[in-house]
Amino acid sequence: MLNILKSFLKEGIKTEDITPYNEQNIVIYKKLPKHLKGSLNIRHVDCRSCNACEYELTALSNVFYDIERFGIKFVASPKHADALTITGPITRNMYKPLLDAIQNTPNPKVIIAIGDCSIDGALFKGAYGIVGGLKDINIEPHILIRGCPPHPRDIISGILKGFD
Ligand code: SF4
Repeated sequence: MLNILKSFLKEGIKTEDITPYNEQNIVIYKKLPKHLKGSLNIRHVDCRSCNACEYELTALSNVFYDIERFGIKFVASPKHADALTITGPITRNMYKPLLDAIQNTPNPKVIIAIGDCSIDGALFKGAYGIVGGLKDINIEPHILIRGCPPHPRDIISGILKGFD
């Protein structure tokens, strides 16, 4: 314990300073319409990403990015969700489950594309087993968050701005 304390005092905090991003996101959050504050449930659908987008999405729930302070949380079923986050190029195997998830999400639903692959297939476009991105299956996402993978702070800002 003493060693940890000594190393902390010697080396300081090694993580990045999130203050500017926090302030920016709090400003956006304050501008949201009242009915959207505190209750946005998201169901995530991985259409076969490389998993890097999932790592960044997982980071949203840690104490550093803490997306729940904006009232946004991930739920286990599309039937409980207001919005879907979709990652990865859409594989032939995930095409039907994705359509099922979209159909089972109550209206009005919001489709959020996370990462370049989910939008147009990006690196995997034209590969065997890949149908493409959301645009290739005629689903127009309401919110596009580009990046490969997008940074957690950009995912939070993207979601909040999408409802602005
Ligand atoms: S956008 Fe990049 S990080 Fe995300 S699933 Fe595609 S290749 Fe992976």
